[in-house]
Amino acid sequence: MAGQQNVDVAIVGAGFAGMYMLHKTRQLGLKAQVFEAGSGVGGTWYWNRYPGARCDVESLEYSYSFDEELQQEWSWSERYSAQPEILTYANHVADRFQLRDDIQFDTRVEAAAWDEATSRWQVTVNNAGTIERCSPRFLVMATGCLSSPNTPRFEGAEDFSGEIYHTGEWPHEGVDFTGKKVAVIGTGSSAVQSIPVIADQASHMTVFQRTANYSIPAHNSAMDTELEARTKATYAEFRDLNRQENGALGSRFGRNDESALAYTEEERRAQFEKRWTLGGFAFMRSFGDLLINDEANETARSFVQDKIAEVVNDPATAALLAPKQVIGCKRLCLDTNYFETFNLDHVDLVDVNANPIERFTENGLLAGSTEFDVDAIVLATGFDAMTGTLLKIDIEGVDGLKLQEKWEAGPRTYLGLSVPEFPNMFMITGPGSPSVLTNMIMAIEQHVDWITECLGYISQNGHTSIRTTTDAEEAWVDHVNAVADQTLMPTCNSWYLGANIPGKQRVFMPLIGFPPYVEKCNEVAANDYEGFVLA
Ligand code: FAD
Ligand code: NAP
Repeated sequence: MAGQQNVDVAIVGAGFAGMYMLHKTRQLGLKAQVFEAGSGVGGTWYWNRYPGARCDVESLEYSYSFDEELQQEWSWSERYSAQPEILTYANHVADRFQLRDDIQFDTRVEAAAWDEATSRWQVTVNNAGTIERCSPRFLVMATGCLSSPNTPRFEGAEDFSGEIYHTGEWPHEGVDFTGKKVAVIGTGSSAVQSIPVIADQASHMTVFQRTANYSIPAHNSAMDTELEARTKATYAEFRDLNRQENGALGSRFGRNDESALAYTEEERRAQFEKRWTLGGFAFMRSFGDLLINDEANETARSFVQDKIAEVVNDPATAALLAPKQVIGCKRLCLDTNYFETFNLDHVDLVDVNANPIERFTENGLLAGSTEFDVDAIVLATGFDAMTGTLLKIDIEGVDGLKLQEKWEAGPRTYLGLSVPEFPNMFMITGPGSPSVLTNMIMAIEQHVDWITECLGYISQNGHTSIRTTTDAEEAWVDHVNAVADQTLMPTCNSWYLGANIPGKQRVFMPLIGFPPYVEKCNEVAANDYEGFVLA
């Protein structure tokens, strides 16, 4: 790690967040070093190579906006581009801005300790088995919200003679399921995308479902080149309009802010139908109160339940696939032929509530006293979201306080950017920020721009450290909870609450609402970093 002893900024992760952070830090004239556990850039899109993986935010939106030439010169081939193309884009950005020179791949950050005497972090990394250290002034965690796969412990897993795959750690060489009997565990977004594609190859597929999920047709298609040209003609304005939306996305389909209950049943259905036809998250913008009023929400969920019943031929299977929870409470899925797949003769659905998975066996798995003979098991079981990756790193702040201890009862931050006892450390899309409830590239850019401005301010004013106050943290945590409690979002067992991980504290982690959040961050900066102490 020659030459890295005195880096100004250590950045952990080379996904979209770490890459942009590196680019911006360089513009400030600071020396930055990125550490990335993987062998390439792209983060999510480097690891999640499962069949059918693609974005669920339209590609014209799910892309960087920070460089006009970049957004003009790049063309996406589909409305929602697939993982290989998104990964190619990440590599293109890395080449275009010569980012690789300052990224150390195959290097996992294992520990970071704050040294009060020098106002520096002591960072320990594992470079393919060799332990190295560096001492940056600032530490930026670009470690991702969905980057620690959740691999539930199934008894007997070691006895299984076939292959076990997790969607979030998919083999780079791909997997050929042709003629194979495949079990898929999980029915979240990764499963909803992969099941129809794997079913095309497999000789038999059994899907093990714990919670049925709402899914809206993506209506994916080849890129509409006229739409692309129109968008590019005013790309900056288009991005700004999206930033004014709660999720920083979807302005092109507009939204209806009125109550679902202000319409007759017929009018309401017509509105849902129109947005169902548009595809994607536009559906949840049919009315303004779908996520705050249960009665309004019920109208949307019954519409989707009816759609599922129309598509799925077998009434018992259709009933099992019909979700019961509030729609939008778990992350909505977007699909291409998901429900249709259950009409195929070689695809079965098993409800694990009625037939719990008891154990894996040599030839498959045992659930509800039935042995399912399979060649491969796909774990589409999600992630230890938002905190999992950060807590795997041994981060030690002021007076030896570990982040694990600090967050024992759930994550506590100021603005999702900073934690009081961890000076000079910033998180990109950390818990307490809109992060996973947005088009994440917009949230990433906003955080990186804010952090960069803050680093510039610190340098210009000759400060050595920045730390947030406990008062600011407390007020922020209360605010994040209060906003969530005004909605229906904390009402089901979602990963937003950590409910998918046994033993994880139940805390609603992201902040709802991008525009007021951005305003707050801007105010904090304009008021000389209100809520922070600069030394
Ligand atoms: P990541 O892409 O997760 O990158 C973090 C990087 O940090 C990883 O490469 C990881 O290896 C590295 N890292 C972590 N810990 C360490 C360590 N200790 N040492 C070294 N390196 C480390 N969001 C959307 O807005 N729209 C979408 O359509 C969308 N689709 C998604 C599809 C899938 C399958 C998944 C899983 C997520 C999706 N997301 C989507 C969310 C997605 O994670 C973000 O959009 C975005 O890619 C996150 O970028 P990031 O750089 O913050 O994190
Ligand atoms: P997920 O939404 O958390 O889904 C995991 C699935 O596994 C759930 O159905 C869950 O059931 C089930 N599960 C977990 N543990 C289980 C166990 N022990 N036994 C049986 N079932 C179990 O994870 P994901 O599908 O990977 O998606 C995570 C997030 O990544 C998404 O919400 C989204 O933000 C992002 N993503 C986006 C896309 C996209 O379309 N672009 C694709 C993939 C992922 P429960 O619901 O009961 O917990």
